[in-house]
Amino acid sequence: VIKVYCTGLYHVDDKVGTILVHRDITKEFEVDMMKSEFVSTVSHELRTPLASILGFTELLLNRELKPDRQQKYFTTIYNEAKRLTALINDFLDIQRMEAGKQSYEKKFINLKLILDKVVESQSIHTNEHQISIIDESNKAHILGDRDKIEQVFTNLINNSIKYSPNGGDIEIKLYHYEDRVFVDIKDQGLGIPEGSMQKLFSRFYRIDNSDRRRIGGTGLGLAIVQEIMKAHNGEVFVQSQYGSGSIFTCSFPHIPGQLEELAPVTESR
Ligand code: ADP
Repeated sequence: VIKVYCTGLYHVDDKVGTILVHRDITKEFEVDMMKSEFVSTVSHELRTPLASILGFTELLLNRELKPDRQQKYFTTIYNEAKRLTALINDFLDIQRMEAGKQSYEKKFINLKLILDKVVESQSIHTNEHQISIIDESNKAHILGDRDKIEQVFTNLINNSIKYSPNGGDIEIKLYHYEDRVFVDIKDQGLGIPEGSMQKLFSRFYRIDNSDRRRIGGTGLGLAIVQEIMKAHNGEVFVQSQYGSGSIFTCSFPHIPGQLEELAPVTESR
């Protein structure tokens, strides 16, 4: 997109000319398009839980309802309000990260301890999945923002649970390769069709197949994971066999041994 400015006429001796200044505004144009697309998607996504909260509140206010029905409606309102909170948090996070306004408080952290914590909190949500950690790394220390790295693993492990509706093992493996630390998160779930692999980490992208239409989400989880990984000089990629499962892999620069002596690992903030 080229914007052309005419800055006026000029005279040199007896010649008259026009000065045209042009500027390539493709980048600004794209940012504007992204912003308006973002606003319209956000409004749409917020409307659905809000409509449901309003509808059920109206029913509770205007009708005589049996206690069990009341209980059911209150539960729906509570769940929708929780979904709304999660949506708003995700929207704000991705907006801040993409605008480069997210600050990261990096410290010397141990990935194994973070994974232990995330697995413990995610295991509460499921009886059908067996989540295990295999640590082949000996020491998986990186320089990172603890909360943000926790968010990466929470999103990935939560997806492994969500997209394995028939249960199955979720295996997390920590290992070193050359100068990097790797974390594999492997599930036996629905897998990812070949055609979706490229778009998977784009914001709002969701796979719209019948096998997962009833599974809730915003399509922001993996976009957030990618932004956080970028901010840690990390990488995230995926391998999958559609119908049999997926492996999401994160890799981080490893902090060399000497640093461990200079900056002992502390798990307190
Ligand atoms: P959300 O889960 O909110 O839809 P994400 O950005 O986390 O958004 O994921 C994007 C899409 O990638 C999901 O809609 C889902 O179809 C697919 N996906 C993510 N993780 C997995 C997984 N472990 N197994 C199968 N599909 C997955």
